[in-house]
Amino acid sequence: MPALTASGPRTLLRRLREIMAEKISAQHRLDKLVSLIATNMVAEVCSIYLRRAGKYLELFATEGLNPAAVHNTRMKESEGLVGLVATMAEPVNLSDAPSDPHFSYRPETGEDPYKSFLGVPVVRGGQVFGVLTVQNRAAVLYSEEEVEALQTVAMVLAEVVAQGGLFNIAELDEPELRPDRPRTFKGEGLSEGVAVGRVVLHEPRVKVERMIADNPQEELKRLDDAIAKLRENVDGMLDSSELDLTGESREVIEAYRLFAYDQGWRQRMREAVRTGLTAEAGVERVQDEMRLRVQRLGDPVLRERAHDLDDLARRLLRHLAGDGDKHPAEDMPDHAVLVARAMGPAELLDYGRDKLVGLVLEDAAATSHVAIVARSMGLALVSTVDGVSDSARAGDTVVVDGEAGEVHLRPPRSVVKTYVAKRELRAHRVAAFAQLREMPAVTRDGVHIKLMMNAGLLLDMAHLKESGADGVGLFRTELQFMIGETMPRLADQVEFYRAVIEAAGDKPVVFRSLDLGGDKVLPYARWEREANPALGWRAIRIALDRPALLRYQVRALLQAAQGRVLNILLPMVTHVAEFNEARALIDRETERARLLQLPQPKQIRVGAMLEVPALAFMLPQIMRSADFVSIGSNDLFQFVFAVDRTNPRVSRRYDALNPPALTLIRLIVKSASESPGDLSLCGEMAGKPLDAMALIGLGLRTLSMQPANIGPVKAMIQSLDLREVSQFVDKLCDRTDGSLRTRLAAFAAERGIVIK
Ligand code: PEP
Ligand code: MG
Repeated sequence: MPALTASGPRTLLRRLREIMAEKISAQHRLDKLVSLIATNMVAEVCSIYLRRAGKYLELFATEGLNPAAVHNTRMKESEGLVGLVATMAEPVNLSDAPSDPHFSYRPETGEDPYKSFLGVPVVRGGQVFGVLTVQNRAAVLYSEEEVEALQTVAMVLAEVVAQGGLFNIAELDEPELRPDRPRTFKGEGLSEGVAVGRVVLHEPRVKVERMIADNPQEELKRLDDAIAKLRENVDGMLDSSELDLTGESREVIEAYRLFAYDQGWRQRMREAVRTGLTAEAGVERVQDEMRLRVQRLGDPVLRERAHDLDDLARRLLRHLAGDGDKHPAEDMPDHAVLVARAMGPAELLDYGRDKLVGLVLEDAAATSHVAIVARSMGLALVSTVDGVSDSARAGDTVVVDGEAGEVHLRPPRSVVKTYVAKRELRAHRVAAFAQLREMPAVTRDGVHIKLMMNAGLLLDMAHLKESGADGVGLFRTELQFMIGETMPRLADQVEFYRAVIEAAGDKPVVFRSLDLGGDKVLPYARWEREANPALGWRAIRIALDRPALLRYQVRALLQAAQGRVLNILLPMVTHVAEFNEARALIDRETERARLLQLPQPKQIRVGAMLEVPALAFMLPQIMRSADFVSIGSNDLFQFVFAVDRTNPRVSRRYDALNPPALTLIRLIVKSASESPGDLSLCGEMAGKPLDAMALIGLGLRTLSMQPANIGPVKAMIQSLDLREVSQFVDKLCDRTDGSLRTRLAAFAAERGIVIK
């Protein structure tokens, strides 16, 4: 009959630690472990089953069953009660095991006489490594304390298995079961380049070093203190006037606070600590159990909550380590590669670009702003990489191949070497393109194409010279607003724009007025919850409803562009009246500057971004009001195809090289050509040589793109005959193919057009 005193699990853990410290073979250690657990829990049988190659569970050690069954009894992952524990990832406690429908009789083990059965999963980092069982002859249910105790022991055991101290961990077949095994992930390359570096977790998993408590009372106190600090912190977030939380963000933090104050959560962690674990191990155990439960249920709402609880647990662990308020970027190593589930553009900017070389995200689309910022920071980026944030550990070696969309975690040296070579090769290629820098972008039949670059940070300006761009076709001013903790003051804005203009020398810069909303949110501003932010209060809509914001920015731009041509581009214009209204605000600022006799630009040009389909039907009219129009294909196609550009599940569903998209561009170019004024395109497709070839074929003569793409696009332009391309693309518009990419690529290959 099983029995356990209150000090039982602690004594057990102490003895466990002694066995771990002994210099004995792995198998011997396991044998000692089962015998110790059996004695301590007054169980007649104690067995350890571990997952092995081919998805089965193997009996690794036993006290009480037939020793000859060790390494011979193997069962399928879902077979028997042991399999049930493994698949459910939860304890199974039965007083009459043989009568349970899951029971699978294995004569070689000699387990006939045992009625009661308790099995608990051996879990680490949300993965089941195996199953630990105890059995007794008497048909009695094990007590809650005994279940707790066995779970605690299993947790220590899991850590030992993970460290490879018990047996050769390389035997485990499934990559996710082997934390130190190399893993390759296939995702989507969103920013080219190859990065070789070290993992920095955006939401780091705090490593629990000490599992077994020396003094359980002290551990309980540490846990309580850390919880108190955590609660204080979360309260602080809500009260902070600096954050000025409203709407959705407030609800999120309030829900988060409820979790932080949840008594059940605290109680479960305290119970885990009472069994003899350290406060850290207690937090981790409760978190592991919760994660497995959520995984099994597969409920998306629960999953969201699980992220919250994960986050709270991480904070708790940081408090326990004594650095609860530290930003993870503080101790970032050189050549850092950030790994995260998701991230906003401001969060990425927070890390700075000095030490970062790459970014791996589970969830981001090509035209999402975090991807745009990543490209602007020159980071290799791979996204849509499922499960990477659970697999990666801080400090792991990682290779990010933004071209192939691959991530190699903990790669062997040979792979690292290959990628270092690939990185060098790429550098050579970039150098080869650099040779084109001073050459004009002229087609074989003599048509000049203007190639501009996109920018958003002062650091981008260095690329103007390096890339040989004709100017900055799109300067995303909002990035500057998103980096800071507070709204930049007028003087700061003037200084910043002046620095940009100076860095551009005699080349033009097109400043886009603040394009906020959608996925670009200022961390310090009030933000109302919106059901469809992409279709919501964004860009010029904010500017017209809050004219002070635009006027303030224009005031800064006017001062900064003293004596120069100032180009202002208004985002998300939907109809002409809206543009005229914004232009009137700009005129009022100009008038103010004139009255105050402030220095002024020598000319002010105001343009409209064509990002909303409605404006495409007003081209002749807008071309009369605006000095220039720039097609923002990222947003335009988001609305044309009704696909959320930030949602990777749909964002690649419709190729921009398809008949309706090209027909629309053709229509825009045609209606624009009937009126004076410039037309350009500054969305991401401008920087892809094949897409750019189609755009030029349709009549566009100015493209603005990431600086790294100027060389490849120029090489493409220099190798094409515009007349031939135009005729070919024009015909393609009539086809019904879902994508014209293959046809265009075949055409380019046939004509020797350089598409790299
Ligand atoms: C666009 O929408 O194409 C564009 C260039 O603007 P952003 O990507 O910043 O929204
Ligand atoms: Mg846009």
